[in-house]
Amino acid sequence: MDFELPADDRAFRDRLRGWLAEHWKTDWARERARFASLDEQMAFLRGWQRRLYDAGFVGLSWPRAYGGGDATIMQQAIFYEEMARARAPELPNAIGLDMVGPALIVHGTEAQKTFHLPAILSAGQIFCQGFSEPNAGSDVAAGQTRAVRDGESFVVTGQKVWTTYAQFSEWCLLLARTDPDAPKHKGLTMLLVDMHAPGVSVRPLRQISGEAEFNEIFFDAVRVPAANVVGRINGGWEVAITTLMFERGPRTIARQLLLRHGIDAALELARRTARDGDTAAADPVLRQRLAQAYIDGEALRVSTLRGLTRMLRGGAPGAEGSAAKLFWSESIQRLFELMLEIEGPYAQLARGSAHAVDDGYWQLRFLRSRGDTIAAGTSEINRNILAERVLGLPKD
Ligand SMILES: Cc1cc2nc3c(=O)[nH]c(=O)nc-3n(C[C@H](O)[C@H](O)[C@H](O)COP(=O)(O)OP(=O)(O)OC[C@H]3O[C@@H](n4cnc5c(N)ncnc54)[C@H](O)[C@@H]3O)c2cc1C
Repeated sequence: MDFELPADDRAFRDRLRGWLAEHWKTDWARERARFASLDEQMAFLRGWQRRLYDAGFVGLSWPRAYGGGDATIMQQAIFYEEMARARAPELPNAIGLDMVGPALIVHGTEAQKTFHLPAILSAGQIFCQGFSEPNAGSDVAAGQTRAVRDGESFVVTGQKVWTTYAQFSEWCLLLARTDPDAPKHKGLTMLLVDMHAPGVSVRPLRQISGEAEFNEIFFDAVRVPAANVVGRINGGWEVAITTLMFERGPRTIARQLLLRHGIDAALELARRTARDGDTAAADPVLRQRLAQAYIDGEALRVSTLRGLTRMLRGGAPGAEGSAAKLFWSESIQRLFELMLEIEGPYAQLARGSAHAVDDGYWQLRFLRSRGDTIAAGTSEINRNILAERVLGLPKD
């Protein structure tokens, strides 16, 4: 890995940094508290993604023919880095940008790419990922949502669960069973489903953090044109694997920045929190743990750069993405636990309490991070993938 940026990438970084300095002047950690609901926040974030897209900063590594920038994935990494540095919000169409779009670039038809890719970039089409079902989460290939061929359409019936942002989505990348008699991995097809089609209903689920980011989706005889099949009929597993590789690998570029942002905030918090006549930063045990959090952040950064280098040389994201996802999710949980220990008894005060530290933001992140070792493959599943595909151990 060459740590020096080439001139093109430096110029890009400076242009983006200048744009952000002009258009984003606050800290999203605090700014997000001003929205009364997730709906209001989402409306704001759609506008934010649109502004970044109009300025040419979204879809940097996607083909220009579909609204992208034809740049290297390095500029994509710089984008995440600068967004974190400016404490700007993440883009709301993360599933479309980081997973569905890349999977469509690999497996989609020309018509699908032309219709969906530019709209994913501008946040005109928010996407959700309809993979998990009540009885098929880790074993996602066991899904029972049926898609039955009827002329030029498929008729979809079944239920998905834990679907992030389904309530805001225009489209869903849906894994459905088209051949119930084939072995489970061979009878699945990936479909693009219009979330406003008759027969689709969405019910939000409330999380431990009190927010309702994810949902149940019910499909009651929903007609989906056969032209919306991604890849081959009964070849949906291939498309699912591509999507999951992008979810576990390149998305870590964005994730590791959340960890770094958290580490900086933990250091600031320790320096300004009184503890035993000094600050929490002087506490010998907390200091050790802060140093360990910093080491975790650096280890993840360097391993992310290694994956990035491979992709710059034309390689695809591989199974080692599981190592990054696993390490990130466990590190971030440790970090937020540490933040609450630094807050001490104040950690019991939540958002809206007059004496809550940072308006209860770190409590919210702590609660939300419990889901990080479950989403995108649980820690156990990612360890199994590493054992089998990276270490060559016998199959689970
Ligand atoms: C915040 C969040 C957002 C999500 N967003 C989405 C989304 O947008 N779209 C979507 O489709 N899904 C989404 N999910 C669902 C997520 O993918 C599943 O929760 C996850 O795959 C686990 O499935 P499960 O909940 O059914 O648990 P299960 O698969 O029932 O697992 C239960 C427990 O058993 C363990 N286990 C299961 N199989 C094995 C094994 N073979 N070896 C060892 N241990 C095993 C698991 O690790 C876990 O601890 C989201 C989840 C969360 C938490």
